Amino acid sequence: EAFNARVAGAKALNAFLVETPDHALAAADAADRARAAGEAPKPLAGVPIGMKDLFCTAGVPTTAASHILEGFTPTYESTVSQNLWDAGAGMLGKLNMDQFAMGSSNETSAFGNVISPWRRSDGGNAPLAPGGSSGGSSSAVSARLCPGATGTDTGGSIRQPAAFTGISGIKPTYGRCSRWGTIAFASSLDQAGPMARDVRDCAIMLEAMAGFDPKDATSLQLDVPRWEAGLSSDLKGKRVGIPKEYRVDGMPAAIETLWQQGVDWLRDAGAEIVEVSLPHTKYALPAYYIIAPAEASSNLARYDGVRYGQRDLPEGAGLQDMYAATRADGFGAEVKRRIMIGTYVLSAGFYDAYYTQAQKVRALIARDFEQAFERCDVLLAPTAPSAAFALGEKSADPIAMYLNDVFTVPSSLAGLPAMSVPGGLDAAGLPLGLQIIGRPLDEQGVLDAGL
Ligand code: GLN
Repeated sequence: EAFNARVAGAKALNAFLVETPDHALAAADAADRARAAGEAPKPLAGVPIGMKDLFCTAGVPTTAASHILEGFTPTYESTVSQNLWDAGAGMLGKLNMDQFAMGSSNETSAFGNVISPWRRSDGGNAPLAPGGSSGGSSSAVSARLCPGATGTDTGGSIRQPAAFTGISGIKPTYGRCSRWGTIAFASSLDQAGPMARDVRDCAIMLEAMAGFDPKDATSLQLDVPRWEAGLSSDLKGKRVGIPKEYRVDGMPAAIETLWQQGVDWLRDAGAEIVEVSLPHTKYALPAYYIIAPAEASSNLARYDGVRYGQRDLPEGAGLQDMYAATRADGFGAEVKRRIMIGTYVLSAGFYDAYYTQAQKVRALIARDFEQAFERCDVLLAPTAPSAAFALGEKSADPIAMYLNDVFTVPSSLAGLPAMSVPGGLDAAGLPLGLQIIGRPLDEQGVLDAGL
């Protein structure tokens, strides 16, 4: 009840698209009944969670923050959300996000900007971006509207918003969380993960969310480790790599200081620090912004006005006109930009020059990480090249927006587990995030270093 009231009282943040107080209350009641009956509590008994609106939830409208899905109410539950309910959690509501998870500031939502609960301490009172695409999740957890929320991360959408709002978030190894029932953006990159106040809460939530699912062909057929029970902040015998290519020009001094602070913390925890090289880092962003739109243009072909949500049927229109009108009206500008880029790089004359080339770069980036992990156990880097920016500051310049993903996309391309944890505040009092990247399947190493 307390969390439901907080959600209802925090409308100004625009973090929730749909509120589902009864769902959360039912989980709380079930937890109470189980306790009264003397049953062992489930791992998330009665915990109220916010669900990013990319996860299909049975009987609850799901739009991916796009007009094209307005009116769509799934008849089925995504595997990740079902796993959370099976672990005892309840849903407070569906969280706002960048439309189809495309964006880094939540400004591409068709249902308005999400506002970060943070403000600069140095006078500038402009509302700040909560990061994106999981901006409703970051804003809600940071404002304590919910103890945890789900996010999805294709190129940084869990980590960058977590960094912008001073919370923790982990993207597990590609394949740990089922993609079934999660609206697809770029299928070879999309991964769900938790966003919560601290590392321990993330570990508990991730244990519930992850697991093999025969309904997702890329789901990993592995047991879910007991990450929470395994947490250890003792890093003796561990080596932490500092990727030198992440020291980019024009990085604010506060980010440098933060990174050094992180190095000192991990050294104090017993780790040995080594410098490593990821030579193809500078090609990661361009490769990502070819591969992700290419996959998106294919995935989004299904929104045709026939199968889901919105349909525009101009008078006397034929089928083609209906497709065109629905898509012109239903998709936002950023989504259209991605579809245009995607169809271009996949088109017959350009496929080899762009798409094939980007896939080669992707392989080189994965090999860079493999080689670096011969010399260290985890990597430490900043999560984003800046603190939260003001709403509107970058929205007119897609390239400036894409550049904010420079530190998060390489590990996505390589499918590696990566986490953002709060590292401290900059001179304006805004949170900064530190990123830990691990070997495939080594979520434990990532969580331990983050602890
Ligand atoms: N900001 C990146 C993009 O716009 C990443 C988004 C994501 O991870 N979903 O594609």
